[in-house]
Amino acid sequence: MSHFHPDHSADLPAILWPAGAEFSLAGPEGSELFPSVASWARSLFEAGGAFAVLEDRLEYSLLEVEADGARVTTIWGNGELGVTGIGVPHGDVPTIGYRVDYGELSVAFSSDQNGSNETFVEFVKDVDYLVIHMAGNENSTGVIASLHAKPSVWGQMATASNAGHVIVSHIATSDQNQLDENLSILAANYGGPVTVASDLMCVDVR
Ligand SMILES: [Zn+2]
Ligand SMILES: [Zn+2]
Repeated sequence: MSHFHPDHSADLPAILWPAGAEFSLAGPEGSELFPSVASWARSLFEAGGAFAVLEDRLEYSLLEVEADGARVTTIWGNGELGVTGIGVPHGDVPTIGYRVDYGELSVAFSSDQNGSNETFVEFVKDVDYLVIHMAGNENSTGVIASLHAKPSVWGQMATASNAGHVIVSHIATSDQNQLDENLSILAANYGGPVTVASDLMCVDVR
């Protein structure tokens, strides 16, 4: 889990229904305003929770990741496959970005963030695929601008990290002209290939 804004977390019970699953669940530590991944999961799936109907169908372990962005946390590893996470700046919301390395191949997920912490660029250094969230426009102001990186900042981060390919997801605008403008600003700041994601799109990274 990256963070507990509803657009990033509300779907998990539906994905687990009806078959249940055995899994490891990583996510941010809590704050005054947001639950930790552990308290969030318990509030959903344990007795008395909103989806306690799933309790007997789930077998999961929990890992809380520090969200201050100061250090990289190892989430999981199995042979050539490794998953790491780091806190990213998203206003007052504890938020984690993730990186998956498999042999020589790597994919990173920015999560919602405003791009103000250099440690993320180091974290995704030389990644093959960088999945970004384009929730803000170049001229966004207020809460949107404080929570979300502008297209130029995404481009600068992709360039600074030497990302091999950028996948644009979490597209907030429904205006094609606005999206086109955002993509051209991104392209002015990043010279590599860009894919615009859509729901259920699969990208073959082999
Ligand atoms: Zn968010
Ligand atoms: Zn979001």
